[in-house]
Amino acid sequence: MRALLSAAAAAVVFVTGAFNAAAQTYPNRPVTIIVPFAAGGPSDALARIMGERMKATLGQPFVVENVTCAAGSIGVGRAVRSAPDGYTISYGHLGTHVANGAIYSLPYDMLTDLAPVVLLPSNPMVVVSKPTLPAKTLKEVLAWLKANQATATAGTAGAGSGSHIAGVYLESLTGLRLQYVPYRGTAPALNDLVGGQIDIIVDQASNSMQQIRSGRIRAYAITDSKRLAAAPEIPTAEEAGLPGFHMTLWNGLWVPKGTPKDVVARLNAAAIEAMADPAVAKRLNDLGLDMPARDQQTPQALGVWHKAEVDKWWPIIKKAGIKPE
Ligand code: ASP
Repeated sequence: MRALLSAAAAAVVFVTGAFNAAAQTYPNRPVTIIVPFAAGGPSDALARIMGERMKATLGQPFVVENVTCAAGSIGVGRAVRSAPDGYTISYGHLGTHVANGAIYSLPYDMLTDLAPVVLLPSNPMVVVSKPTLPAKTLKEVLAWLKANQATATAGTAGAGSGSHIAGVYLESLTGLRLQYVPYRGTAPALNDLVGGQIDIIVDQASNSMQQIRSGRIRAYAITDSKRLAAAPEIPTAEEAGLPGFHMTLWNGLWVPKGTPKDVVARLNAAAIEAMADPAVAKRLNDLGLDMPARDQQTPQALGVWHKAEVDKWWPIIKKAGIKPE
């Protein structure tokens, strides 16, 4: 018995020692962030801005890999199956890490197969249309969509993505029915909106911002109770005549479960340092993104928030009967 106990104790010392050693030398090669949407979109942009600054703290490149399809569920699955060593990070949001679990039959459990690292900035959605759509206000867009219900199209990043949930929410508030066109991300959807191949997107504000500023698309309302400092000319949903149309798309980072705690702590600290950097904060604010409160930036806080969001959204999404593509 004594021999067994000391063998067990030795194993514990060995394993903890190995973890500490791993954390001390971590990272000693590039870290991959799996972004489950197309390059050039809002998730990709935020992951790259964060990764660039985390490299300055941790001394290794943070390489973004875009693993697209099925509203991000393929990319998240890839991260779940990766080695739990801190070299693969799962980037995602309310859609990928909450909604997808209520829509797809996933080969993983998003709450227990991933360990939280940090909550990232969030932003509201904005209703945008192709430039040639004959409407100037939200009310006029809604009237136009109603009149053209059979043919009008809304671009999304797939069933369960942020742009899709926001579209379903808009339908539930207005009684409209939209024809969705799924893309691998809202970057290609936005290209098609500019080109006039689709009619609207209920898009992440950060994605549409530049095209709104350059006048290539038209913006009608922000899904928030206050206007965006980055685009104060866009009215809130209330002001535009659709009270209650509020939605914030939050983002986060996770690692596969079993990743050593000290590695998670180092990633968390690097992400916090990035968000506290005034140059990073300015870039994110210019995109209309809001920083999470400082006390919400711990791994534990993301864990609690993630679970609460699953509890809140799953019944709503299941009731809406959203089907996978
Ligand atoms: N975040 C997605 C993207 O980067 C878009 C979405 O969820 O609607 O393309």
